[in-house]
Amino acid sequence: MAMSRREFIGAGATAAAGLALAQPLTVQSRGDAAAVRGLTAADARPAVISSANGIRGVAKARDMMLQGADPLDAAIAGVNITELDPKDHSVGLGGLPNEDGVVQLDASCMHGPTRRAGAVGALEDIATPSLVAKAVMDYTDHIFLVGAGAKKFALEMGFKEQDLVTEESRQIWLKWKANHDPNDAWLDHDDDVKIAFTHGTINMNAVTASGDVGSVTTTSGFSYKIPGRVGDSAIVGAGQYCDNDVGAAGSTGRGEANIKIAGAFFVIEQMRAGASPEEACLRALQRAIQMTETRLLDDRKRPRYDLTYYAMAKDGRYGCANIYQGPQFAVADARGARLESCAYLFTESERPRGPVPMHTLSH
Ligand code: ASP
Repeated sequence: MAMSRREFIGAGATAAAGLALAQPLTVQSRGDAAAVRGLTAADARPAVISSANGIRGVAKARDMMLQGADPLDAAIAGVNITELDPKDHSVGLGGLPNEDGVVQLDASCMHGPTRRAGAVGALEDIATPSLVAKAVMDYTDHIFLVGAGAKKFALEMGFKEQDLVTEESRQIWLKWKANHDPNDAWLDHDDDVKIAFTHGTINMNAVTASGDVGSVTTTSGFSYKIPGRVGDSAIVGAGQYCDNDVGAAGSTGRGEANIKIAGAFFVIEQMRAGASPEEACLRALQRAIQMTETRLLDDRKRPRYDLTYYAMAKDGRYGCANIYQGPQFAVADARGARLESCAYLFTESERPRGPVPMHTLSH
């Protein structure tokens, strides 16, 4: 349930996020793991799916929905755990900075029952962009705020301004800066670790016991990106999408590949047409590859990047697919919270070898 704007500011927007960390985290959802044998997917609801880095969050979100929480509130509380974790360099606090050493965050969310959405792009100095995206949804007539305007709005809504660069992420950025161009004026250091471009994100999709859905995606985007670059996570229909008649879906991986096919929307439309969640995710990957520029494909049309889709159907069926074999995703339903393997199009040995273009490396 949305609070009034005054209540929201009074409660302190970041205090709400802090609660997510203060409570003990259980990886196994409480109390119901035994009763599962023979249950249908619908009986297993509430259910939550996310990228693997959301393993604590899916348990949290499911526990909240068991106690009656709204699916989007539950999913956002789930991703807040990762956003506020300084050790996760792909999201929120401690997320890897852009070229200039500044952390710019993207997030978007969607609420099935009311068919509303909110988003922020290139947001600086606020650790929980998912909550700012929800505030855009709850308190404005708009859907998408970016940059300085998004930050001004967040401050007006009572979010706390903080430096998101941690000592660890600053060191990683400095090493990148010292190494990224052999012709620059920065000195290489012998003890420098090899710094790859990295990416990472958390997408979470939730369904309640009665079939209401919500979806959220939040990220610091590609490390060392060009300032102002906004990826798919902030884009409703690409980084996440939900429709209360069908389900909820989202993605992680190369945003530039996903944006072009409006991937999360594509997954939902495939499910609406009858595909299972896993089949819908696989079809989205195939479409993304079909739309990929040749410089990012090898001669067998295998992409030089990673992309993953996650989908939760309204009836509690779920599925996930990654281009290459290997990654896992997190899921929580009446069987508890666990990691499972993603479906895939190609084995790891089929991944193209040789130099990898910027911003396309795997997790
Ligand atoms: N999708 C994110 C982006 O393009 C990055 C990621 O998921 O790794 O910003």
